[in-house]
Amino acid sequence: MSRIGINRNKARLRGALGIRARLVLFALILVGPLMAERIRSLHVTRTQQIAEAARDFAGLAQHSADAQREVFASIEAVLKSSAYVYATAAQVNRSCAIMRASLRSNMPWLRSLTVAGIDGIPKCSTWPELIESDLNFGDRPYFKRAVATGEFTVSDYVFSRLTNLPTVMAAYLAPGQTKADDAVVLAAINLDWMSNLMSNLGERPGVTALLVDHAGTVLAAPPGSIGQVGRPMDDLAVLPLIETNLRNSQRQSGSLSFRADDGARRAVSFAMIPGTSAQLIVSIDEARVSAVADQDIRTAYIQLAIVCLFVLLGALVVAERMIIKPIRTMETMAKRFGRGDWSARMPGNRLPAEFVPLARAFYGMAAQLRGRERELRASNEQLTVLASVDMLSGLANRRGFQGRLDFEWLRAQRSGDDLALLMIDVDHFKLFNDSYGHPEGDACLARVGAELSALADRVSGFAGRYGGEEFCLLLPDTDTNRAIQIGEMVRAAIWSMMVPHATSTHQRVTVSVGVASAAPATLETARDLIEAADAALYAAKRRGRNTVVEHGFVRTYGTAVSLSA
Ligand code: GH3
Ligand code: MG
Ligand code: MG
Repeated sequence: MSRIGINRNKARLRGALGIRARLVLFALILVGPLMAERIRSLHVTRTQQIAEAARDFAGLAQHSADAQREVFASIEAVLKSSAYVYATAAQVNRSCAIMRASLRSNMPWLRSLTVAGIDGIPKCSTWPELIESDLNFGDRPYFKRAVATGEFTVSDYVFSRLTNLPTVMAAYLAPGQTKADDAVVLAAINLDWMSNLMSNLGERPGVTALLVDHAGTVLAAPPGSIGQVGRPMDDLAVLPLIETNLRNSQRQSGSLSFRADDGARRAVSFAMIPGTSAQLIVSIDEARVSAVADQDIRTAYIQLAIVCLFVLLGALVVAERMIIKPIRTMETMAKRFGRGDWSARMPGNRLPAEFVPLARAFYGMAAQLRGRERELRASNEQLTVLASVDMLSGLANRRGFQGRLDFEWLRAQRSGDDLALLMIDVDHFKLFNDSYGHPEGDACLARVGAELSALADRVSGFAGRYGGEEFCLLLPDTDTNRAIQIGEMVRAAIWSMMVPHATSTHQRVTVSVGVASAAPATLETARDLIEAADAALYAAKRRGRNTVVEHGFVRTYGTAVSLSA
C-alpha cells in the first residue's frame, strides 16, 4: 500500500476512534477483565462441582458395591455350607429341613435354596413346588459352569421358569461320595433386596445408579428407578469403555467421562462385584449436576452484556456532557469572537472545571485580539489620512481631493446646490526651479499650500494639491460669481506673498486660476467640472498668467462644452 493510502487509512481510523469511541474502549478495557475473571471463576466452580459430585458418587458407588459384595459373599457362604450339609447328611430329608429353616429366618436376600442332582433335577428345595415340577437346571449356563469349574457361580439376569419372576441364580457344586452323587446347590437371589441396598444412591437429579450383569441388563436399581430392572441399561455404549478401563488399570473400580448417545456428557463411576460378572454403575449427567452453575454462568453473561451496555452508554453520556458539549460551546464562542463579538462568554457554571483555564485563555486571547484590532483600526485610519495628505504642502493630495470631490458632488446632487472648483497653477514654475533650485521650489510650493489652506478655511472651501505645482480649491454651495471672487482672492494672496521670481514677467511668484461652477444636475460627472476648471486655467495662462478666468457651460446633447475659455 502506498504511503498516501496508509496515511488516509490512519486518518480514517483516527476519525472512527473519536473521543467517544476511545472513552468507550477505555471503559470496556477497565470492566472487561473483571467480568472475564468472574466468568472464568464460575466455569472453574462448575468443573469443581462436577468433579465433587463425581467423587461423592464414586464413594457411594463403592460403598454400595461393597454392600452388594457382602451379600454375594454371604450367599456364597450359604451355598458352601449347604453343600457341606448336603454332602455329609445321611438323610436328604433332614438336610433339606435344616436348609429351609435357616433361609426363612436369616436370609431375606434369597428367594429360595435348592439342591439339584448333577443331572439338573431338583432334589431338595425351600420351595416345595419346585420338587413337584418337572423343572431341570441341567441346561442352564450357570449350572453347567458351576459343575465344570466347581466354583461359586452367579448367573446373568434370568427369569425363573417356574415363577416367571426375574432373578439372578447362584450355584455351587456339592461333591458326593461318587461322581453320580454330586449335587449343585442353587440359590435364587431376591433382586428387590439388592435394589434396597442401593437406596442410598436414590433419586438425585442427573444421577443414575444401576447394578447390571455383564450383558448390561439391569439387575437392581434405587427405588425410584426400579422400573428399569430387567431392561438393558440406557447407556450400553459405556460397557466397552468400562471394560477397557478395567483391563488397563487392573483394578475393580474406576471412573471415566464419556458422551452419551443423547449428546450429554456423563461422568461414570463403576465397581465390579467380586466373584460375579455384575457391576455397579453410577452415571452423572454433567449438565444436570452443573445446572445451577450453568444458570450462574448464563446470568453472568447477561450481567456482562448489561454492564457493557451501561458502560457504553455511560461513556457516551460522559463524553458528550464532559467533553464534546464544552468543546462545542467553545467552538461557538470562538466563532463569535471571529465575527467580532468580543462579549461572547462560556456558561461558567456548566463548564467542567478542567475547561475553565481553557475558557480563561480564550477570554485573554479575545481581549488581546480586541486591543490589536483597535490598534489596527487606528493605524489604518492614520494610513488612510497619510495616503490622502501631501507632505510638502500639508494639503490633501490628488487622492484626498478626489475623495472629497466625490463626496461634495453627491451632496450637491442631493441638495441641488452649485459646486465650484478652482484650478490654481503656479506660473513659470519650471523657470523658478531653474533659477532658485529645486529645494527652493519645494519651499515655494509649501508656502503656496499654507496660503491656500488659510484661505480655504476662510471661505469654507477644501484645498488640495492636484499635482506638481498645480493646486485646487473646492467650494461647496458656491455660484460662479462668488467663485470668481474667491479666485481673485487666491491670486491676490499669492501675489501678496511677494516671493521673488526673477525670470517671470511679473518678477514674483504668481498663480493663474481657472474657475468652474455648476449644479451637478447640469453635468454628467464630477470629471466634467474638473475639465471645465482646467480649460479655464488654460485660458488664464493664455491671457498672460496671474489672472482668473471662469468657464461658462452650454449644454448640448448632454455634454458640457466650453464657451468663454
Ligand atoms: P506655466 O506657467 O505654463 O505653468 O509654466 P510652468 O513652467 O509652471 O509649467 P511647466 O508644466 O512647464 O513646468 C512645471 C514645473 O513644475 C516643472 C517641474 O519641475 C516643477 N515642479 C513640479 N512639481 C514640483 C515639485 O514638487 N517641486 C519643485 N521644486 N518643482 C516642481
Ligand atoms: Mg505652472
Ligand atoms: Mg502646471
